Amino acid sequence: MSPASLDKPLTLALSKGRIFDETMPLLSAAGIQVSESPETSRKLILPTSSPDLQIIIVRASDVPTYVQYGAADFGIAGKDVLHEHVATHPGGLYQPVDLNIARCRLCVAVRQGFDYEAAVRQGSRLRVATKYVRAAREHFAGKGVYVDLIKLYGSMELAPLVGLADAIVDLVSTGGTLKANNLVAVEDITEISSRLIVNQASLKMRSAALQPLIDAFARASLANK
Ligand code: ATP
Ligand code: MG
Repeated sequence: MSPASLDKPLTLALSKGRIFDETMPLLSAAGIQVSESPETSRKLILPTSSPDLQIIIVRASDVPTYVQYGAADFGIAGKDVLHEHVATHPGGLYQPVDLNIARCRLCVAVRQGFDYEAAVRQGSRLRVATKYVRAAREHFAGKGVYVDLIKLYGSMELAPLVGLADAIVDLVSTGGTLKANNLVAVEDITEISSRLIVNQASLKMRSAALQPLIDAFARASLANK
């Protein structure tokens, strides 16, 4: 849980794709540029225009782990990922700012033509495939619906099409992927965006370097509201 060593630059953990792309304007508002892209570079540690800041590229669901153990001082992670992470790793992560980036919704979706309302009404046991087991369990428990949860790590849209599950719990933004696979969203569970997360020891011991960045991110993120 110790912060990265004091003579090293601050380390920011990001995942490639939406979160990396939508973090660039926040960094730029703090006067920092990143010249390499994780889409074209094979490097997992990217320098920035500031000698005091480097970026590491990790899986979206690994970002909280790197920050919690102090291998990164701070990071940016979706609320979807954070909700699952904190259930098994309590404490140790400070979550100061909702950056309002990588926005989407966590939804229940089924095959077109599947009568979800009837299935729920009849109290039949629903088979639900998802990467978000905790959020799904809480959602259906709140409705009093019995579910068998099937943990998947990706391509959830496939599960109802091949008979693995009746429904999926997944992230939706435009709905394009659901539509392309003949699925429809039947319930919204929650709004998702990404938060800044900070290692608690780093916040104490490296606050002179960290706090100005946290403040700059918070200010710049107001534009995403
Ligand atoms: P991995 O590629 O490591 O398996 P992943 O596919 O979940 O993880 P991404 O698809 O890049 O990774 O999503 C990273 C984060 O971006 C998610 O945790 C979520 O917060 C957000 N996100 C995911 N899908 C969408 C979407 N359709 N629209 C907006 N934000 C999204
Ligand atoms: Mg992905």
